[in-house]
Amino acid sequence: MIIGIDDTDSREGMCTTYLGALLMDELRQYGTIVELPVLVRLNPTIPYKTRGNACVGINIATSCPDKVMEHVISRISTMAALECDMTNPGVVFVQDDECESVRDVLGTFFQRAVKEVLSIEEAKYVIAKTGLQSKGFKNGRGLIGALSACGSILNPGWDHTFEYLAYRQREKWGTPRNVDKASFFVADSATYPATWDTVDVSNELVVCVPHSPDPVLYGIRGKDPEVVRRTAEMISSELLERSCVYCTNQGTDMHLIPVDSISEIQEMHSYIVSGFVSDDPFTIPGGHTIFSISDSSGASVECAAFEPTKDFRSLVRKLIQGDIVKVYGSFMNKALNIEKIEVVSLAPLVASHNPECPSCGKRMESAGKGQGYRCRKCGTKSPVLVQVNLKRDIEPGIYEVPPCARRHLAKPLVRFQNPSVKEFPSR
Ligand SMILES: [Zn+2]
Repeated sequence: MIIGIDDTDSREGMCTTYLGALLMDELRQYGTIVELPVLVRLNPTIPYKTRGNACVGINIATSCPDKVMEHVISRISTMAALECDMTNPGVVFVQDDECESVRDVLGTFFQRAVKEVLSIEEAKYVIAKTGLQSKGFKNGRGLIGALSACGSILNPGWDHTFEYLAYRQREKWGTPRNVDKASFFVADSATYPATWDTVDVSNELVVCVPHSPDPVLYGIRGKDPEVVRRTAEMISSELLERSCVYCTNQGTDMHLIPVDSISEIQEMHSYIVSGFVSDDPFTIPGGHTIFSISDSSGASVECAAFEPTKDFRSLVRKLIQGDIVKVYGSFMNKALNIEKIEVVSLAPLVASHNPECPSCGKRMESAGKGQGYRCRKCGTKSPVLVQVNLKRDIEPGIYEVPPCARRHLAKPLVRFQNPSVKEFPSR
């Protein structure tokens, strides 16, 4: 039986991945857990997401599915942050004999939930049409993620990474986390690039420890279950209550939709889109750096590197009109929020200055508007400015925001196979 759960957390506490980890341990009394649980991140632009827009899926081989369902529903009822307005849990169950008939419809639903904006009604329609057992709490928004998590297990083969999540003992929830920061840097240097986003080297930050009052102590992201477990063993911290390794679509760019034209871009979707820089970058109060790109369709879009992207903004500020770029990011509030940028080609940076006098070598001066240039010393005249190509302080390549500003779904450059890929800033 496959179990999908979503939307049990709130900004104040809980975490759907914790509930998943707890159930992984508790459900063993009813059968055998098949493979690793999944942690699915949905469309990151959805405004009513609680915190990380995470849902979880568990696959269990059991001879008593009714007991499993009762246990899961009881746990959600008592542990979900139901008092929070934004928390609307949902759970969906797919029985063994239902898997084949719902595989395709849930697989499509999963892909769409990561890229598009789905409604609760759509989730309820799929449930009604397939006859799957489910329970939606309050407005039932969590049914969207619950169906998606089931769809992800039924349709393996999507690009994936792994995350080891360490959970705090319950009496510690909401108190400051006791972790040895130095141990994260040691663990990172031992296993990077097989793990990533444990620390942000250039900003000297530990980025895998959340600040919210939820049960997560830290999460180690990496390319296989063995390396994330081994990295976690190197970390010194307060005692854990439990841990869990999830297979996840984090770090895969699954949310990005490649488009041929800027004119196809819509709010609350994420894209890979190419264009030429049509407005020079400028930095607005608050520290956000903005520029525009356009393409042959005549459409243009503002691209933004927000303040939390730190030094990434200094890279973006080096772009000039005419540079050809490919931008990876989410379109929200009329701006493309940059996660990565490929600088495809650079426009010449031309500076003009008054010509030197060919007779005496002195710099000539303007002879008046439209009158060309004249040497004040010897009177020689010249009609034109001299133009020189300046060296650009940026190279073609693909650049990403630092780990401290990374979106869950954004694929880090360490996962790219292309040797032309550049890390910025380099570590
Ligand atoms: Zn002269």
